[in-house]
Amino acid sequence: MGASLTRDLSAPPPIPEAGIEAAVAVLRSGWLHRYGETLGDASEVSLLEAEFAASLGTRYTVAVNSCGSAMYLSLLCAGVARGDRVLMNAFTLAPVPGAVAHAGAEHVLVDITPDLVIDLADLERKAIASGARHLLLSHMRGHIVDMDRLMALCDRLGITVIEDCAHTMGASWAGRPTGTFGRVGCFSLQSYKHINGGEGGLIATDDDDIAARAILYSGSYMLYGLHRARPAESVFARWRDVTPNFSLRMSNLVAAVARPQLPLLAERARIWNDRHGRLAAALAAMPGVRLPHRPQEEAFVQSSIQFAVTGVADAAFATFLSRCRARGVFLKWFGAAEATGYTSVSGQWRYLADPHTPPATAAALERLCDMRIPLTLTEAECATAAAIIGEELAAARKA
Ligand SMILES: *Cc1c(COP(=O)(O)O)cnc(C)c1O
Repeated sequence: MGASLTRDLSAPPPIPEAGIEAAVAVLRSGWLHRYGETLGDASEVSLLEAEFAASLGTRYTVAVNSCGSAMYLSLLCAGVARGDRVLMNAFTLAPVPGAVAHAGAEHVLVDITPDLVIDLADLERKAIASGARHLLLSHMRGHIVDMDRLMALCDRLGITVIEDCAHTMGASWAGRPTGTFGRVGCFSLQSYKHINGGEGGLIATDDDDIAARAILYSGSYMLYGLHRARPAESVFARWRDVTPNFSLRMSNLVAAVARPQLPLLAERARIWNDRHGRLAAALAAMPGVRLPHRPQEEAFVQSSIQFAVTGVADAAFATFLSRCRARGVFLKWFGAAEATGYTSVSGQWRYLADPHTPPATAAALERLCDMRIPLTLTEAECATAAAIIGEELAAARKA
């Protein structure tokens, strides 16, 4: 056996000093809750909302306690009612079907292609067959579908699009940031996403009514006037007395930690994409390894890498994964029979009215490997990781 990686590559990026200082200042002041009757509109959360909206080019951003909450509120604000059907790509993470369930809606699973993006032909079929009026689209693992074609299709069918950008903060399609194509874009500040706030979600939209309703639902205690990025009072007047308070707010502590990371996104993207490029080049040269095709219009931020393996039987594949892990290369397997550690497939979501994994999704995930790319991964570690995968794959093929 050759070299191993010996560091814990699952450690999230540390908080920059400016974030630590801002967090300590919040702690010293005691103003952890975002609203204070005398605090004005300069709370850390309010500033984060305004700065994130400006960076994305949307009129509004509403901060909440997780991306799961962001998606749930976005569904409600976009008009999803109990019992409605919501389309979603079958390859995604558990908070996405969770948000649909939270809204009391019924899931309509749409297949993905071997390139890990939603299959537009299946989307059209399922949209027509189900009568669903909403699509919760995950840019899962940073893979962005042709957004021009997707939006044209959804516009034609009268479908409202909500984008889950948990893996695409900083990414764009044909020069336009993800999260600005649909009616709403949802972002995550969970530690493994592109900004580490521990927990947190951001709802980005240009829509007055959605922004006002999201602020009210999130739990504004009627202090919505303290939001910097907010619609006019006349919009709130439509909703303020008919919208329940769900108390899903973000704390100033989270925003203080997150804000100084916003300007670091571009440099983080450069590092992630550099490491991804090195790994991708090495993996693509290995026999029986396939990487998803990436169109030219897609400007991704690849904080993880996916590759499919062919010609390895079940038992040998499981051995391959465990041997890589023993050498410090942790590969996730979404196609595994049981949901474990951040993986699952739709057939395992037994709370769905019809839990199953659509056929093309099952085929795409069957031998799909997924590796997180930590920001601290060095160039040398990329080479070592690729060598380990190559050696263990060759051994698995002989088995
Ligand atoms: C992490 C994640 C989310 C939601 O994140 P939370 O902030 O943990 O709720 C949504 N979608 C995908 C694809 C994710 O990976």
